[in-house]
Amino acid sequence: MPELLEVEQARALIEARGLGRPIVRVDAPDAWFLKRGLTPHGVERALRGRELVTARRRGKLLLVDTDGGPVLGLHLGMSGRILIDDEAAGDPLLYASNRDVPEWRRFGVRYSDGGSLYLRDPRRLGGVELDPDEDRLGPDATTLTRAHLEAMLRRSRAPVKAVLMDQSRIAGLGNLLTDEALWRAGIDPARTASTLDGDEITALHRAVRTTLRVLRRRGGSHTGDHMVARFPGGLCPRDGTPLTRRTVAGRTTYSCPRHQH
Ligand SMILES: [Zn+2]
Repeated sequence: MPELLEVEQARALIEARGLGRPIVRVDAPDAWFLKRGLTPHGVERALRGRELVTARRRGKLLLVDTDGGPVLGLHLGMSGRILIDDEAAGDPLLYASNRDVPEWRRFGVRYSDGGSLYLRDPRRLGGVELDPDEDRLGPDATTLTRAHLEAMLRRSRAPVKAVLMDQSRIAGLGNLLTDEALWRAGIDPARTASTLDGDEITALHRAVRTTLRVLRRRGGSHTGDHMVARFPGGLCPRDGTPLTRRTVAGRTTYSCPRHQH
């Protein structure tokens, strides 16, 4: 599913090609995809005649500012992608079908130049809202400081993986990025968060930063070193030990019983 890195690719695509083009029509064929009381008529009225002026991101939430109108909030859900003029950003075929079935275009705007921006979502778990409450999300993971991480971990008795994936505490980390960072830091995903000592918090903070930097350069959340062993029977790329497969924080989790403690 899209994590911070994939949403960032979508943000960059909107920034590069979706801004400053007058909107002449809004296409919202799926009322269920509109959230928080938004209606097809309401979103049409709010956006028609305006331009998108800035593309921001907080965690996995895309925030697109308009000239004098509301902030357009786009959620990619489990399988969403942004298309501009019918082209998508990033590497296709990884977490969703790349076919372009018309019904998968859940929301879009048409520009006066004939182009368009669409949110395509085969699984229909994303959504659109206006003026989303950005503060329900914690600080973006790319800005995570050691002090913030320590404060989050110290007061939680949840598994460390659950704290990292809690979007209200740290925004943007999903299953793959979290497993990769914990694997790099040598920390068991199921460890009670408050039991990490100072050195482990430092190692985890560095691992989150490194994971985001390296995987961004490589092209996405699926490019981690640990990814190659994410299947039953997979061996730890660091020490060759068979990885353990468990459910932690409600998600399928792979970790190394030898070097993650
Ligand atoms: Zn290992």
